[in-house]
Amino acid sequence: MKRTLRGEKVLIATHNKGKLEEFREILAPFSVTVVSAGELGLAEPEETESTFEGNARIKAQAAMEATGLITISDDSGLCVDALDGAPGVYTANWAGPNRDWMMAMRTVEEKLQAKGATAAAQRTASFMATLCVLWPDGEERFYVGKVPGHLSWPPRGAFGHGYDPVFVPDGETTTYGEMSHEKKNSLSHRARAVEKLVKDLF
Ligand code: IMP
Repeated sequence: MKRTLRGEKVLIATHNKGKLEEFREILAPFSVTVVSAGELGLAEPEETESTFEGNARIKAQAAMEATGLITISDDSGLCVDALDGAPGVYTANWAGPNRDWMMAMRTVEEKLQAKGATAAAQRTASFMATLCVLWPDGEERFYVGKVPGHLSWPPRGAFGHGYDPVFVPDGETTTYGEMSHEKKNSLSHRARAVEKLVKDLF
């Protein structure tokens, strides 16, 4: 069935201000009213699945059941090749309960150093984003965006959130953290997933 989000009120199932800001900027050209789980004070469900898709579904279901709104959720993370894809779905956990991103970036760096991974080619990683759109009638759709790149050290750049200051996308010389919001939103993993969503639902 043809579905569209045009003119709808849509709930973004996130408490992450950085992600919400990115969604708002990316969806700005479409006449969508955006509210977020954080703004509505919804509880954050536990992410108990071992895949991005599974955790995206958990977040979308919890937020949709609480509000009855069409919901978009996002599960994303950094997959480092030399670390067998870690931190992956556990990307946020590596920042600990206080969401200490410096500690998280340092943990990744220490593990890479322990493996002797000093050249860019040994430090390849991808940022992944899986979006889930869930309608109150139970239909769900998934959209995946991936950006390959490598990790640099020390962290560079004052923009962005999470691991942005250490991730350099392929074809670029600057980290996500050094890019303006406009630039990051033109090429990020989330933007690529949203691009697919937009093609399908607008
Ligand atoms: P979750 O999707 O909320 O479970 O968490 C994924 C984690 O991945 C986020 O908390 C960030 O730390 C990290 N992450 C996801 N997307 C980005 C990004 O665009 N830049 C930096 N870190 C990100």
